[in-house]
Order: sequence, then C-alpha cells, then structure tokens
Amino acid sequence: MEQPKREKPYQKPTGERRGLVLVYTGEGKGKTTAALGLVLRAVGRGYRARIFQFMKHERAAFGEHRALERLGVEIEGLGDGFSWKSKDLDHSAALAYKGWQKAREILLSGTYFLVVWDEISYPIRYGWIPLEEVLQALEQKPKGVHLVLTGRGMPEEIIERADTASEVRKVKHAFDAGVPAQRGIEH
Ligand code: ATP
Ligand code: MG
Repeated sequence: MEQPKREKPYQKPTGERRGLVLVYTGEGKGKTTAALGLVLRAVGRGYRARIFQFMKHERAAFGEHRALERLGVEIEGLGDGFSWKSKDLDHSAALAYKGWQKAREILLSGTYFLVVWDEISYPIRYGWIPLEEVLQALEQKPKGVHLVLTGRGMPEEIIERADTASEVRKVKHAFDAGVPAQRGIEH
C-alpha cells in the first residue's frame, strides 16, 4: 500500500499579485474548457472577462456561447469557421489579422480582468498573425490583466513568456473509439 506523503512545509509566497499569462496547449481534450473555467471563476467574483476565438465563426452557437450570453459575457469568433478547409485562404488570413488587431486592442485597453485568446496557436502557425506581434502584446499587457492563450502546438516563445503553462496530454479520447462529437460535451 502506498503511504500518504508528508505535506511539504508551508511556504508563504513572497511575490506580488499581478496579471498572469496562462497557456493551455497539448493534444488532449480540455484546453478551451479550462479557459472557460477561468472565465467562470473570474465572473463569479464580479470581474469582467472577454473571450476571442480565433478558429470559430462569429455566429458560433455552441453550449458555451449560449451559457455565456446568459451570464452577459462577450464571446466572439474571429475566424470563418473551419478556416483550414477554407477555399479562400487569403480571406481567412486577412480575417484572422483583422481579428487579431481587435483582440490585441481589447487586451491593451485594460478594460477587462481576464482576456482569452482561444486557439490563437493556429493562426500564428499558419503565418496569419506574426508571432513577433503577439510577443510584443504580451510585453505591453497592462499589469493587472490576466491573459489566457490556448491551442495545440503553442510556439515555445510564448510558453517561455507565460507565467503558468499547462500541457493537456491525450491519455484517451472517445473520438478514437469512433464516438462522434456530442452536444454539451464537444460543442
Ligand atoms: P475542449 O474544447 O473540449 O476543451 P480542446 O480545446 O482541448 O477541447 P481542441 O484541440 O481545441 O480541443 O479541439 C477542438 C475539438 O476537438 C473539441 O470539440 C474537442 O472536444 C475535440 N478534441 C479535443 N481533443 C481531441 C482529441 N485528442 N481527439 C479528437 N478530438 C479532440
Ligand atoms: Mg480548443
């Protein structure tokens, strides 16, 4: 039998509280939902949160969009849906860059306690949003604002600059057993 581990002696944190850069990346399920969990937590405390989804259509109506509408939290898609299947990649690229400018402006405005850039790793990897501009925005982030970035294959340069970064590892996924995406679980 495994013995209970003795707790580490309590160490009082000596740093200052400040707005964080948090990253959720990896191949497993749970990145976007982790970001939404933080939104729930912040909003529950009466703080303002705003979510930008780089790979979702502006009219997406998944479970989270419906719930957040009830909560009065703004969530918006900046893409044209399944951008990687798009016939007009120039259009997708232009749309992503325009969306990026808005998402950056909102972060830098300091109006929100928490800002989410969901699935931003993809447009960066496609070269639609210059990584340098993202890194610069992280530098310029108002001190009190928390920023969450999600998506598979998050560039190392972003992970290096994050305060908290979690990699969701796929141990199993129902999709691999042939179970289709389900309402209320996947979307
Ligand atoms: P979720 O939105 O459920 O938190 P995610 O953000 O971690 O998932 P993404 O990589 O953004 O996952 O994938 C988008 C969609 O693919 C979601 O519907 C998600 O449930 C599903 N998905 C996530 N991981 C896997 C996987 N390993 N295999 C197949 N489908 C997956
Ligand atoms: Mg996701």
